[in-house]
Amino acid sequence: MNRLLQGYARFRRDVFPQRRSHFRLLADSQQPEVLFITCADSRVVPDLIFQTEPGDMFLCRTAGNIVPPAGALPGGVSATIEYAVEVLHVRHVIVCGHSDCGAIRAVLPADPRDPLAKRDLSRLPLTAKWLGYVEPAWKHLPPGISQSDMPTLHVALIRANVIAQLENLKTHPEVARGLAHKQLEVHGWYYDGAVEAFDEREMRFIPLEEWTRSQQEGAA
Ligand SMILES: [Zn+2]
Repeated sequence: MNRLLQGYARFRRDVFPQRRSHFRLLADSQQPEVLFITCADSRVVPDLIFQTEPGDMFLCRTAGNIVPPAGALPGGVSATIEYAVEVLHVRHVIVCGHSDCGAIRAVLPADPRDPLAKRDLSRLPLTAKWLGYVEPAWKHLPPGISQSDMPTLHVALIRANVIAQLENLKTHPEVARGLAHKQLEVHGWYYDGAVEAFDEREMRFIPLEEWTRSQQEGAA
């Protein structure tokens, strides 16, 4: 907590005065181009990774970067997507998973060598229900993944979960409309110090630099 309070004191003293006019502008209007949905994990810091500024990205953070499908109980994630697409008119929605995700680790089969795997969720009914939305990820695992090699399975399931949550995202009516009218693009990313993007044509994750090149070539 002290870190927060000391950081706030520095922000008020050194940062805010220099950016006062920028913040005032943002108070009146924001036009982020991107809705970025990622895990609540403290190691994923979008503004640091992408060197973005206040106003650049609309952020939504959920345990396991889960996006419940449309029609599931209405909640903050659905409302955030609806607002970002319908009101802010974001052009891109990115679902970003990350390495060592604890939410995904909790749904792996029990591994006696890994005390963190398959935690007892009976005392965490809300978490257990929330993690139920990871279930469709299993069908997006690449073939040949060993169910007993836990570290490999963990990474593969995190990536597969990004694909599953992208599918859920597309069930939201405003997202489906935006895609149909080519006013919106959705992207699945994986962060592990470096970022990989899911290439839907090749059905695999590729380095973001490679993905960027392929986009530029496609546009040329
Ligand atoms: Zn996570």
